Amino acid sequence: MKSSLAELFAHNRAWAAQMEAERPGFFTSLVKQQTPKYMWIGCSDSRVPANQITGLEPGEVFVHRNVANIVVHSDLNALSAIQFAVERLKVKEIMVVGHYGCSGVQAALDGARIGLADNWIRHIQDVRHRHRHLLDSLPESVRANALCEINVIEQVVNVSVSTVLVDAWARGQQVTVHGWSFGVHDGLLQDLQMSIANSDQLDDLYRLAIDRVWTNWNADTVTPRIASSENAASIAKG
Ligand SMILES: [Zn+2]
Repeated sequence: MKSSLAELFAHNRAWAAQMEAERPGFFTSLVKQQTPKYMWIGCSDSRVPANQITGLEPGEVFVHRNVANIVVHSDLNALSAIQFAVERLKVKEIMVVGHYGCSGVQAALDGARIGLADNWIRHIQDVRHRHRHLLDSLPESVRANALCEINVIEQVVNVSVSTVLVDAWARGQQVTVHGWSFGVHDGLLQDLQMSIANSDQLDDLYRLAIDRVWTNWNADTVTPRIASSENAASIAKG
């Protein structure tokens, strides 16, 4: 834990010197351009640093983070980042990454009032409302985890229906939008199998991904139920 800002600068100088010693010219090569293959859309939570989790170096991942990894249709900040990543950097993979134990998701689930952010969290409450039947059918202890995953799946949809992605796919550009969730408790990423490579895949993969959330978290109940695709799909629509 850094105890003062001076330590951050000291650490920075040591890091830069070590990088240059190990790989001479590393920074001067970055000056020319960035050519990341990946875009990461994640939560601002300090426990979920994109580069460290994935072992990616400076220049390898383009990052946008906000509270609870939400992509709102009219958020010019997120949309501008996505447009730059897709149209200028030509990233191949966009990952929307949520995390278990997310305060934003928990606040949305509890309906807690925390201030200005309530209006931002409201987007997750809308997600919660859309999937209320599914969430209510799960044990209370796992609902936050399930909502964390559902929120990621919904945000993958929001990225995929944005004009940026719709236009990119229409002109044949290869870019895939993924949904992942990170475990702060074990440091591991989970693939929610919501990987959209064109608009036609969206509806089917969405239903399957929501189905999977219900099946995964319902498995821990005392009297497990078997979810048919039709059943879960109708739950998802509720
Ligand atoms: Zn979070």
